[in-house]
Amino acid sequence: LVSRKKQQENTIVHVKGVEIGGSAQVMIAGPCSVESYDQLKTVGTALKDAGIRVMRGGAFKPRTSPYDFQGLGIEGLKLLKQVADELDMVTVSEIVHPGHIELAANYIDIIQIGARNMQNFELLKAAGQVGVPIVLKRGLSATIEELILAAEYIVAGGNPNVILIERGIRTYEKWTRNTLDISAVPILKQETHLPVLVDVTHSTGRKDILVPCAKAALAAGADGVMVEVHPDPATALSDAQQQLNIEQFHDFWHRVKSSGLFK
Ligand code: PEP
Ligand code: MN
Repeated sequence: LVSRKKQQENTIVHVKGVEIGGSAQVMIAGPCSVESYDQLKTVGTALKDAGIRVMRGGAFKPRTSPYDFQGLGIEGLKLLKQVADELDMVTVSEIVHPGHIELAANYIDIIQIGARNMQNFELLKAAGQVGVPIVLKRGLSATIEELILAAEYIVAGGNPNVILIERGIRTYEKWTRNTLDISAVPILKQETHLPVLVDVTHSTGRKDILVPCAKAALAAGADGVMVEVHPDPATALSDAQQQLNIEQFHDFWHRVKSSGLFK
């Protein structure tokens, strides 16, 4: 169903007046984790002033260590909704349990399925049952075909609004957190009709190469970019070293926009 052979026209996901996969690209920005009302309001206001309407923030955090911050859960989704309603923004947040999919649809506009859950088939089936768009991230060691088949689960379940995200894969390279597979972008665009985004933060894990990576993604045909932004990254409860502060985000956004690649 997701194959370009089956449907020639691009799938365009419409959510609260934002189009993903259409003629304009989308920037999704926001903190790794939802931490507080003030944190979200500060980032959200900065994004809105910069003309960005889609804000991310994780409430259920799939952390490598059980001793790390696990997220605010449903409370976090409620905070996200509160701030998004105040600022008229569209929200993205990760859900990790099939039983939370329906509930989450009451609070957030786009449900994220993260890299670690790309092949959680019960979660994919649950995501097929809701009317909310799904952003599906490529698994840590997933092939492009496995990503496409994971998307197929959601669409086959009845939800056509799936957005794919290349977020880097695990290789032997240590100078980046993951290896950004730019070639996945044109392949996914060729093989499927779904929108394709690139998460420049989790793929690289470093702040100093985000601009060229975002430009490369857009030049390769990506429909948008995801990036992490936090008002005070040093105190962040997750991914402290890789999040941009607001000033750094403004610089990033200005440079990406002025490249002419972001339509
Ligand atoms: C995230 O976007 O918050 C996240 C955990 O990313 P990934 O699933 O790509 O690691
Ligand atoms: Mn993160």
